[in-house]
Amino acid sequence: MAAQNAQILFPVNVPGAFDYRIPHGVNIKRGDFVFAPIGKQMKLGVVFDILEDDGGRTLKDIAQVKATQPLSVEMLRFIEWTARYNCVSPGLVLRMVVRSYKALDPSPMVTQFSPSESLPSKMTASRQSILEHGGPFPARASEISERAGVSSGVVRGFEAAGGLIAQNLPVDGPFGVPNSEHGGIALTFAQRRASDELIAQVAKRDYNVSLLDGVTGSGKTEVYFEAVAEALKKGGQALILVPEIALTQAGMSRFEARFGVAPAPWHSQLGDASRRRVWREVAQGRAQLVVGARSALYLPFPNLRLIVVDEEHDTSYKQEEGVIYNARDMAVVRAKIAKHSVVLASATPSLESLVNARTGRYAHVILPERPGVVTLPEIDLVDLKDHPPEKGDFISAPLIEATNAVLARGEQAMLYLNRRGYAPLIICRNCGQKLKSPDTDSWLVEHRATGRAMCHQTGFSMRMPTACLECKAEDSLNAVGPGVERVAEEAAKHFPDAKIEIFSSDTAGNPAEIAARMTRMEQGDIDILVGTQMVVKGHNFPKLTFVGVVDGDLALAGGDPRAGERTYQTLVQVAGRAGRADKPGHALIQTHQPDHEALAALAAGDRERFISAELGLREALLLPPFGKLAGVIISGEDLKKTEALAKKFVSLAPRADGVEILGPSEPPIGRIRGRYRRRLLVQAEMTVNLPKYMKTWRARVKPPSKYKLQIDIDPQSFM
Ligand code: ADP
Repeated sequence: MAAQNAQILFPVNVPGAFDYRIPHGVNIKRGDFVFAPIGKQMKLGVVFDILEDDGGRTLKDIAQVKATQPLSVEMLRFIEWTARYNCVSPGLVLRMVVRSYKALDPSPMVTQFSPSESLPSKMTASRQSILEHGGPFPARASEISERAGVSSGVVRGFEAAGGLIAQNLPVDGPFGVPNSEHGGIALTFAQRRASDELIAQVAKRDYNVSLLDGVTGSGKTEVYFEAVAEALKKGGQALILVPEIALTQAGMSRFEARFGVAPAPWHSQLGDASRRRVWREVAQGRAQLVVGARSALYLPFPNLRLIVVDEEHDTSYKQEEGVIYNARDMAVVRAKIAKHSVVLASATPSLESLVNARTGRYAHVILPERPGVVTLPEIDLVDLKDHPPEKGDFISAPLIEATNAVLARGEQAMLYLNRRGYAPLIICRNCGQKLKSPDTDSWLVEHRATGRAMCHQTGFSMRMPTACLECKAEDSLNAVGPGVERVAEEAAKHFPDAKIEIFSSDTAGNPAEIAARMTRMEQGDIDILVGTQMVVKGHNFPKLTFVGVVDGDLALAGGDPRAGERTYQTLVQVAGRAGRADKPGHALIQTHQPDHEALAALAAGDRERFISAELGLREALLLPPFGKLAGVIISGEDLKKTEALAKKFVSLAPRADGVEILGPSEPPIGRIRGRYRRRLLVQAEMTVNLPKYMKTWRARVKPPSKYKLQIDIDPQSFM
């Protein structure tokens, strides 16, 4: 047999793979993890490809094959595709896939105990407590003693007496096997028809995408559960992607109720040990049901049959740092490569997905109504010109009236404002200076609950000063504009007898606090919830019948071409929180722009009107989904050099038909953490291969060290 070489990809940011010789007699295949020398070091990499040796070069030998589950060929292709499309090196994508080498080793072992068949003759109260409260078994002595409230000596003694059996077991046990027949509710006729369509798609075991398009509360989750059940039934793996803030205990327990076991979770707050466990169990194909945030898409599933992207329109699917990618779009790519199904679910689908559904590229599965007698909330606009709030206030008379009516009926109200803290701006009355974040072009936000001034861009915070930092005038700092804390303060003035709570990432940051607040809300211990977008995701409050939106114009500002779409989506979702049980809901939106198409269509309850107006606009301007966009962010510590680099980059742009370059310009946040930033926007016709164009362009310039040039294909953020 002719000698063979292997292309090894290392999880580092270099342009491509390196060639090595495969030593004679060593059996190596694509996807294997191997050690190979780089300089004097041995590095772990993945065999990306195998080629016949042409004898032209002397190559170093691969040192050793690591005994572990290889990556599948589909996974390799997915890595390559992600890298090419998003204009990053494949090594960076591999690093996203293999974040911990320890996950490649089998789980460490530890002694664990379970009850034996026969009990010892001497049973004490402590031993009885072990049997009753020490489980689930098998468990470690420390776990059993904590749960049963006995010393670990008692656990050992019970084992010595024959009541417990000790076994050497993996520290990271397997996840429970989901039961597709467990749980499940009686679906309505429309839901059954939708779930049958999805099941048929999954059963094809081939690439297909369905857009599950159903109004808020129409039972989309119940319906896609059936598609998940179909994938699991045949022994496949299923991945459900949800926005990070929907990964709450309440969200997870819904899966457990349906499938009988807790799914394997994947999110940013997961500890290293849990991460390794999930990775390993997924790689072995044993974790069948995974619920996670966007990066779960890069777990090494060997046997994936279905990916559900819940709330597919959500902006949190876009990763904005490191490898900049959109998990919704990459989910479709992964399915195409590995030949399986994708379900994109939303009450407010992105225009991209809607157009794909309407042109037949995706199956369009529609749930037009809520089950039972539940109707969609009535939405009305409050023109702030006609109903200005009292001086210094932010809640207008119609919102006050509506809230009073709801409280009189013993129901609940929600006031929505997507702004954390007390006030978004702190200005000195004496000298007019605004309190600014150091090294970042962003104003500090006053957080009165903690007595701090915070930068929401960088997380910087300082004690709220008592005097102006510039002119030193005492007590001159003035809060300008509302945040949720201020709305709650004002609500307490208007509704003195109501129980009011704030729900934002500041007040309910950890899962336990979120769960506690949810329970208080469900039990009616809260009358008025003042919340940011955190309240929008996946919570059902049966007694919530009124939603007041304090600032309906908030998302319309800025240079985002999707601003209208985002406003429409958010407000539909916010309003959709009202009236989920048997009581009809009502939403009032305060606005300065009642004629804006997104708001007018919302008030008219006419989604189609908004979609066709918005699509018309996008088509005329060649914006997605009728044209392509790429963003370029150039950043560095010196303003002049950053600007010069941006200009030089523009001057090196390849000539191509159907490509237009806008900028460089200063983005809304011109400096972050001391680094100046400049932006370009590249607009291209549909026929242009934009990633390829950007790659050619990018290769023409080598930014000096400490200067960065990042490419963002299909940007969602324009900050
Ligand atoms: P969506 O995902 O579309 O917002 P959900 O699946 O969360 O909707 O359903 C909203 C609420 O209605 C949930 O509490 C759900 O359990 C309930 N529900 C949906 N369909 C039915 C049904 N056929 N019978 C009883 N309850 C249902």
